[in-house]
Amino acid sequence: MSTLKTKIEFLKGVGPTKAELLKTELGIFTFGDLLMHFPFRYVDKTKFHQIRDIGPGMDGENVQLKGVLRRLEMVGSGRGKRLVGRFRDETGVIELVWFKGANWIQKSLQTGIEYIVFGRLNDFRGKISIPHPEIEPFVETANKPLTLAPVYHSTDKLNGKGLDAKGQRKLTAILLNKITQEDIPEILPDYILGKMKFPSRYQAIRDIHYPKNPIDLSAATNRLKFEELFFLQLRLLQIRKNRKDALKGYAFQKIGENFLGFYNEKIPFELTGAQKRVIKEIRKDLGSGRQMNRLLQGDVGSGKTMVGLMSMLMALDNGFQAALMAPTEILAQQHYQSITAYVKGMGIRVGFLSGSIKGKKRKELLKFLAAGDLDFVIGTHALLEEPVIFKNLGLAITDEQHRFGVKQRSRLWKKSLPYPPHILVMTATPIPRTLAMTLYGDLDVSVIDELPPGRKEIKTLHKYESGRLRVFGFIRDEIKKGRQVYIVYPLIEESETLDLQNLEEGYESISRDFPKPDYQISIVHGRMKPADKDFEMQRFVKGETQIMIATTVIEVGVNVPNATVMVIENTERFGLSQLHQLRGRVGRGGEQSYCILMTGNKLSNDSKQRIQTMCATNNGFEIADADLRLRGPGNIEGTQQSGTLNFRLADLSKDGKILQTAREIAHRVLDDDPNFKLPRNEPIRRYMLYYAKKVKGWSRIG
Ligand code: ADP
Ligand code: MG
Repeated sequence: MSTLKTKIEFLKGVGPTKAELLKTELGIFTFGDLLMHFPFRYVDKTKFHQIRDIGPGMDGENVQLKGVLRRLEMVGSGRGKRLVGRFRDETGVIELVWFKGANWIQKSLQTGIEYIVFGRLNDFRGKISIPHPEIEPFVETANKPLTLAPVYHSTDKLNGKGLDAKGQRKLTAILLNKITQEDIPEILPDYILGKMKFPSRYQAIRDIHYPKNPIDLSAATNRLKFEELFFLQLRLLQIRKNRKDALKGYAFQKIGENFLGFYNEKIPFELTGAQKRVIKEIRKDLGSGRQMNRLLQGDVGSGKTMVGLMSMLMALDNGFQAALMAPTEILAQQHYQSITAYVKGMGIRVGFLSGSIKGKKRKELLKFLAAGDLDFVIGTHALLEEPVIFKNLGLAITDEQHRFGVKQRSRLWKKSLPYPPHILVMTATPIPRTLAMTLYGDLDVSVIDELPPGRKEIKTLHKYESGRLRVFGFIRDEIKKGRQVYIVYPLIEESETLDLQNLEEGYESISRDFPKPDYQISIVHGRMKPADKDFEMQRFVKGETQIMIATTVIEVGVNVPNATVMVIENTERFGLSQLHQLRGRVGRGGEQSYCILMTGNKLSNDSKQRIQTMCATNNGFEIADADLRLRGPGNIEGTQQSGTLNFRLADLSKDGKILQTAREIAHRVLDDDPNFKLPRNEPIRRYMLYYAKKVKGWSRIG
């Protein structure tokens, strides 16, 4: 072990200056740190692009070239000053450009010799160049059998002191010569290595630096990714298990007359397979004697409310009250209406509470709740407030959780004694499974991945400004058929004034194209008083207006089945999950619905991909996966501060399969040997002693 703890300055070839730079630039203090500083790609010295094949349409693509540096000169002045190199292979010439560190780079390069160049193509007004390429002399490895040479992350400062990819390569080669099997003990048990056909940790670490061939490289990479994900999952599952063991809850053992009566006689449709499965999962939790903490994910329209209601009926059958909370007044009222309609005639007492319930009505409701004269209560976050006391709250459901903070939810816990109520969080913002497993690794997740039968897919179209007249014509036709239309504008805080101006201009122009008295228009945005907002919303809900012009405030949950057209303005400014959420406002009735994505003519690659994804699929999980791929895991809502997502190698947007396997195996290990006492799990036990400390504090996620 001590070899790995040796200070980096003791490595041959590392003097005090280099040591200092390795520390400050790369966080490398010891031999071990350098060993774990993995390459981020490899130069395959056998594969090169030819310059003549590079053409328009390859903007943003990575290429590797082999050729000779012909000319190298500084051009421009001041801020436009840059170093331009002409790089030639047998088939053509391309420009290499440096804006930063140009002086140093000019000194370090030599014209007339062969280089390997790697970089991203940039198409600037039809002229293609490679800005800031990686470049290194070709001779360097010419007489070695190496075909995959490691390339390490570098910085301008490192490059300036001979610690570019090549310099770092020298160091790792020296280091690997000193490292023996004993320096790198195995942390995975033999039976897992055997089952997965993984190389030893020692071999994997050697191979990830200097793979002999692509097969060894992928075996090493898979093994190292697996171990990262495996120990994380093991730890998260352990935390969850500990918490579950500790958190006693009410045991709802009875399936009684309310649940059965509703299921056998009142339910207006056949439950989907997914709904049935989730209800079973919940039923198991509720009967277990431990507190349930479950996240229910399901696309808009997948029927989460029914699952919520059936769970509430289970609480009632066991003599407990149940609460359902929504983030807005309108949503809460919609839930109230649909639930009272569902349970009509069953003698179930349902109450409603929101900020708008005041005075005598409010007092009465609070009294009933406390006395147990109400079975269900539906409302807004007003339910979380101090004066709200339950006789015996057994189950609390929150809808559309991303509007509620984690903190607010924890207030629920105090509303019941001696145990906290069971908690079910319903959300229509799907997060990709890979992320859910990690982010909510210590929470239980149910997924409704099936829509009720007979739904018509929403047709999604992309239109440019030039197509606006036809879009308006289409809107007129739909309104003639008696349908309603949403038109949504972006509004972000940073440019709020400008956005509001846009919205108002949009309103004026639409009012001209859709004049009274034939057309009535509602307008809703976040700057309005809540009462005015509700008033306008209600006019639309009741069908008094045909067009609703709004900002994304309507994103959450409103249900107007008669609305069949969703027009989104400046679509390029919305994120994927938000677009999908907005689209979910239509397609809620029996009629064919449409989502029209309006954009300007110039679109970035990312915007194009978002729009293509929207046009290609209606499936929330596919959208979420695309979002993850496009934005990377760090940018998905709610994950920003989570240390769980910083991996050395693993990438949640690509390594879903490895994660799934790692999680399954972690599950099995914990099931039959929770404290790693069996001899075969000894490597895990030893490593967890160290690892558990490293991930301390993650248990608060979710
Ligand atoms: P979510 O809250 O998941 O967006 P809802 O619970 O509002 O979805 O359900 C959407 C619509 O689908 C509602 O009108 C509901 O009555 C209906 N619905 C729910 N489950 C089924 C089912 N199994 N079969 C047919 N219709 C269903
Ligand atoms: Mg809903």
